[in-house]
Amino acid sequence: MVAKKGAGADLAAGLKELVRKFALKNAQDFGKAMEGAVLGKVIGANPSLRSNTAKLSEVVREQVAAVNKLDKAAIENELAKYADEFKTAEAERAEKSSKHSFEIAGAVEGHFVTRFPPEPGGYLHIGHAKAVFIEDALRQRYNGKFMLYFDDTNPDLEKQEFVEAIHEDLKWLGIKFDGEYYASDHIPILYEHAKNAIGKGKAYVCTCDLERTKELRFSGTGCEHKSQSIEKNMGLWKMMLDGKFGSGKAVLRLNSDMKAPNTTMRDPALFRIKHAKHYRQGDKYSVWPTYDFCTPIIDSIKGITDVLRDKNYEMRDELYFAVLDLLGLRKPRITSFARLEIANNVTSKRKVRALIAEKRISGWDDPRLVMIKALKRRGVTLEALREFALSFGMGKSESIVPIEILLNINRKMLDPIAKRLFFIEHPFELKIEGLSGKDGDVSLKLHPTEKLGYREYSTNTGLYVAAEDAAKLKAGDTVRLKEAYNIKLEKVGAKVITAAYTGKEQVDASVPKLRWISKTNAVKCELWDIGELLVGDAFNEDSIKKRQGHVEGYATELSDADIVQFEGCGMYKLDSRKSMRFLSL
Ligand SMILES: [Zn+2]
Repeated sequence: MVAKKGAGADLAAGLKELVRKFALKNAQDFGKAMEGAVLGKVIGANPSLRSNTAKLSEVVREQVAAVNKLDKAAIENELAKYADEFKTAEAERAEKSSKHSFEIAGAVEGHFVTRFPPEPGGYLHIGHAKAVFIEDALRQRYNGKFMLYFDDTNPDLEKQEFVEAIHEDLKWLGIKFDGEYYASDHIPILYEHAKNAIGKGKAYVCTCDLERTKELRFSGTGCEHKSQSIEKNMGLWKMMLDGKFGSGKAVLRLNSDMKAPNTTMRDPALFRIKHAKHYRQGDKYSVWPTYDFCTPIIDSIKGITDVLRDKNYEMRDELYFAVLDLLGLRKPRITSFARLEIANNVTSKRKVRALIAEKRISGWDDPRLVMIKALKRRGVTLEALREFALSFGMGKSESIVPIEILLNINRKMLDPIAKRLFFIEHPFELKIEGLSGKDGDVSLKLHPTEKLGYREYSTNTGLYVAAEDAAKLKAGDTVRLKEAYNIKLEKVGAKVITAAYTGKEQVDASVPKLRWISKTNAVKCELWDIGELLVGDAFNEDSIKKRQGHVEGYATELSDADIVQFEGCGMYKLDSRKSMRFLSL
């Protein structure tokens, strides 16, 4: 009993230390630790903690609150002992990304053609970005061709709007294709191949319902339709094409092996009936090929030499080749790689649609998502996304990666263009006396090292400082207004501080420095601190924390999508100039 108790206490202490370490790091990176981000990091470092997120959340809440009470120096001081650990993790990742080579055994320079196959039934996400970047890297490596193939044989889901959105996202991703084509433009030739397969006794028309098909597939038994004559199947196929069956009432199936150990080989569907208007073909067809039938055929006839696929499709490779064998068509080579998954997020179209319907998120470009348009809105750059996505190489080992890794790369890349501005959440008035001539005119650099220019203010008509800073001040203190001048506090009242100007020269570096904004041109703004979308499997109710406050007047000169670094707060992207809304990066 005693030993058990001791072990539990050790475990609790270990957890507390782990959480505190990430809370400190998060506070150092962002100016403030955020529960969602810390939780994600802790689970990333120790996935087994996922099983008790209630307890974990409690510890995270405690530690985040405690760490947020510390000042910058205390955080740095406490983090010092972990410096090597954080440095090593960073170095390992950087080294890994430079090491990857993009190669396929047997691929030949000048004879390489690959394709990217989106379905226009949704928007592209970060996993698609990984695939196109790898395919594009291979195209360059082998001096080959890269085609865009719209896999559009499901009239229920597909829309022209998605075709256009996919084009737009791919353009943003910097991918130039050597041509594009649509599966739905190839229906007549696919019908020819279907007839060919029926003629060889390799396909049959089945009218069993879905439930029965499922049961038979599970038990490994063929239905009565499997042994129909070729003539009978030809007749039924013609009836399918003539619109004699309703949606879902008949299926053309591969006559394969109902006892195959690979269940995808148990007489899979090749064509289904869907009486629905197709966004591109209109009412022309009601018999639609499945992915498993049309993909190998179209890849083969379009001259694709290399297919890159998500590892999760490996089970279907056998079927891909079986279709081509049956029809006597040339076989491309398939190479599989692991899909990129982001921790505590979703990419499934179905799940994103549900979150939108429940009004949990605002749409496909909600900044918490990892859809391409959401990442773009958030302020993730193409360069950062490419470096991140390619850092995993073409390996097959699955990894669920915290979004923080991408954001870190992104912030480093953006730092040289991030304009430094002051944001004050709770303003406290400060009046300066004794200013003469141009004493009150201040010019501040927009960046400490890069030449981004200046912002200029008059401080004669009063300032705002942060209430949390004001709370630490008392009459008689000498402080410095950051990048401006020194003041001596004369009276610290409940609503206003009065101070005297004491000169521009910075005499003592240890004098406390205050963020400030000129009162006359302070602009109201809203900061959205973006956390992770999910906690465990549930929606994270705290995934966006909104803060109202004031930003200095220069903000009105920013353009939409400009990047700023709010001192002591972190990096943000201007999301809407009109409503002065900034998103955390
Ligand atoms: Zn049947």
